[in-house]
Amino acid sequence: MRAFTYERAADVAAACASVAGDPDARFISGGTNLLDLMKLGVERPAHIVDISRLDLKDITQTPDGGLKIGAQALNSDVAANRRVRERYPLLAQALLTGASGQIRNKATTGGNLLQRTRCPYFYDTRMSCNKRSPGAGCAALEGLNRNHAILGASQSCIATHPSDMAVALTALGASIEIAGNRTERRTLPVGDLHRLPGQTPDVENNLEHGEMITAVMLPPPPAGRQLYRKVRDRASYAFALVSVAAIVATQDNRIASGRIALGGVAPKPWRTEEAEKTMGGQPLTKETYDSAAGVLLQGAQGYGHNDFKIELARRTLRQTLAASVGQA
Ligand SMILES: Cc1cc2nc3c(=O)[nH]c(=O)nc-3n(C[C@H](O)[C@H](O)[C@H](O)COP(=O)(O)OP(=O)(O)OC[C@H]3O[C@@H](n4cnc5c(N)ncnc54)[C@H](O)[C@@H]3O)c2cc1C
Ligand code: SF4
Repeated sequence: MRAFTYERAADVAAACASVAGDPDARFISGGTNLLDLMKLGVERPAHIVDISRLDLKDITQTPDGGLKIGAQALNSDVAANRRVRERYPLLAQALLTGASGQIRNKATTGGNLLQRTRCPYFYDTRMSCNKRSPGAGCAALEGLNRNHAILGASQSCIATHPSDMAVALTALGASIEIAGNRTERRTLPVGDLHRLPGQTPDVENNLEHGEMITAVMLPPPPAGRQLYRKVRDRASYAFALVSVAAIVATQDNRIASGRIALGGVAPKPWRTEEAEKTMGGQPLTKETYDSAAGVLLQGAQGYGHNDFKIELARRTLRQTLAASVGQA
């Protein structure tokens, strides 16, 4: 591991200034992803700024009836929070499918959203990887790509984003509050946080260097039943092959409104308005669910080992929608 200096941040402004002033500096929260990457030599910060003790842990009600979750709230505390469990069960379910109890006790809200891909070639510095070393090539294109993206990928990178929480937050229409050194606090929809790889897979999100996530803002819960389903190789302690976040409201045996987001299939949580619109006013039938899946999965492409994900995503979406309206 490269030698680095360590600083415990006194407040948000000082932390942002410290990181913004040094291109080789990084924030560290729970450290459950960054430290692993440092040990492997994938991340080589010269300076780390510890933000884990900042006063950003609270989960509070907002005046509009939503919820504000501090960026330092631990994954296990968010999942166990009464308001989250009662009003945003989708979020609690997604968090509880992630990692292990021990990791969730360290992992933070901000760190979970900004964790890096789990593409094995990204973690192996002997392999070519455009995300790690721009211009080096992508070993996954011709390699073992079972876990890789079927949507939103490019010839430069076919990695997926691994966060379960991000998928739930995207379906719930959450936004993030961001603090920066030069900028006023600003907000960004969670769906706009992560970028598609295009020609620059090393640029993964729309934060500037030195900008810090300070909170997640949840709007009042949308109407309907919320459900998170995750398909993975093991029953626990594994990343998603495919996951589905669904929120469906019904009236007179028809879908009044529906929201769907997919995880494990793209470099960011995958949600489209077009797919959701196809469900409005439609009967609770397999045809309705399949037609939404068809629109959501438009343009899906496999890279060999992960071809199965297209059908898996379709079936998981169908099953989750059916379950969310009490049919399974
Ligand atoms: C074995 C294992 C299994 C896992 N399984 C799953 C799973 O199934 N599903 C899942 O979703 N996750 C899973 N995870 C990932 C885990 O949830 C993340 O490692 C964790 O959420 C990261 O949070 P952290 O606070 O430890 O982040 P850190 O490791 O501290 O930071 C991660 C990144 O975020 C940046 N950062 C952290 N906080 C902020 C902030 N507030 N503002 C700006 N930048 C910030 C850091 O600079 C760093 O780049 C797994 C991890 C492991 C090790
Ligand atoms: S898929 Fe992306 S992260 Fe994986 S090797 Fe290719 S460029 Fe690197």
